[in-house]
Amino acid sequence: HFAMAKPFLNRLLEGGEQQTVKAVDGLDLEIPRGQTLSLVGESGCGKSTVARLIMGLSNPSGGSILFDGADISRAPAGQPADIRRRMQMIFQDPYASLNPRWRVADIIAEPLRTYGMCASRQEERREVDRLLEFVGLNAKDGDKFPHEFSGGQRQRISIARAISTKPEFLVCDEPTSALDVSVQAQILNLMRAMQRELGLTYLFISHDLAVVNFMSDWIGVMYLGRLVEVSPAAELFANPQHPYTRLLLDTIPDLGMSKRDRQPAAGEVPNPINPPPGCHFHPRCVLANERCRSEAPVLRMYDGGVRASCHAVEEGRGVEPIMAQASA
Ligand code: SF4
Ligand code: MG
Repeated sequence: HFAMAKPFLNRLLEGGEQQTVKAVDGLDLEIPRGQTLSLVGESGCGKSTVARLIMGLSNPSGGSILFDGADISRAPAGQPADIRRRMQMIFQDPYASLNPRWRVADIIAEPLRTYGMCASRQEERREVDRLLEFVGLNAKDGDKFPHEFSGGQRQRISIARAISTKPEFLVCDEPTSALDVSVQAQILNLMRAMQRELGLTYLFISHDLAVVNFMSDWIGVMYLGRLVEVSPAAELFANPQHPYTRLLLDTIPDLGMSKRDRQPAAGEVPNPINPPPGCHFHPRCVLANERCRSEAPVLRMYDGGVRASCHAVEEGRGVEPIMAQASA
């Protein structure tokens, strides 16, 4: 349904001058229809860059992004309208993504107008009312302005706007990170209900493993622009393979939704402008050896749908016994 393949380059602004760095490098991802794949990793790992590439907000300098088999990274003037309609994005800060001078009904109706989805203003307003109720607001809320709502309600408004075009695929970049934990749970429940009812596919981006545990069918762990592990969610939590995945999981003693104050992962994240050679993770890895310092590991497939890019996993020399290698 959705796939990315081969290396991507992207520009990052650093210290006021533009330098070209590999913000995302050789990231292969596939998301089956109707499922959620979450990308996790520390800030600066490239998660948001992936979201921007997919949505056509940044241009990849190589590789491909496939949506339903069509390469959407090649269009010279941005993505074709039909593809844009079918892919929508939910952002972290619902206030920044909603025009404060517009009434909520107009905010939600704007994509409907862009894609000519309603024949009349009456039909448009009926659709807006329906969307407001679908996301747990009232039809009369359409007459209000964004500042009249709480953070959670504003995120419901952005969700109503995002699903107004009847998309199949939603990219959700930290959609609940700015919200209180009780509100966070309500929004996540809404997103899961929406997924079931509308058959949506999600790419979910989060630094919060408790949230990711609740939302995901698949989890991709990113480190300095590379995907280091992609596994079925339950498998990743029960049996993490990559040393960095283990480190991330070690920082959360309690995966309950109430756990908020987690410790940052041990060790510094190196500068992405000048990442360490070989395996980017080697300066922080207890299993690093000479091969790790010179040769970049590639993502290999193991039993149970697990993919990991690590020489130690491949060589079967983990700290704990690592599952048998099925293929290489
Ligand atoms: Fe550690 Fe080497 Fe695996 Fe990188 S490739 S995570 S340095 S063991
Ligand atoms: Mg981000």
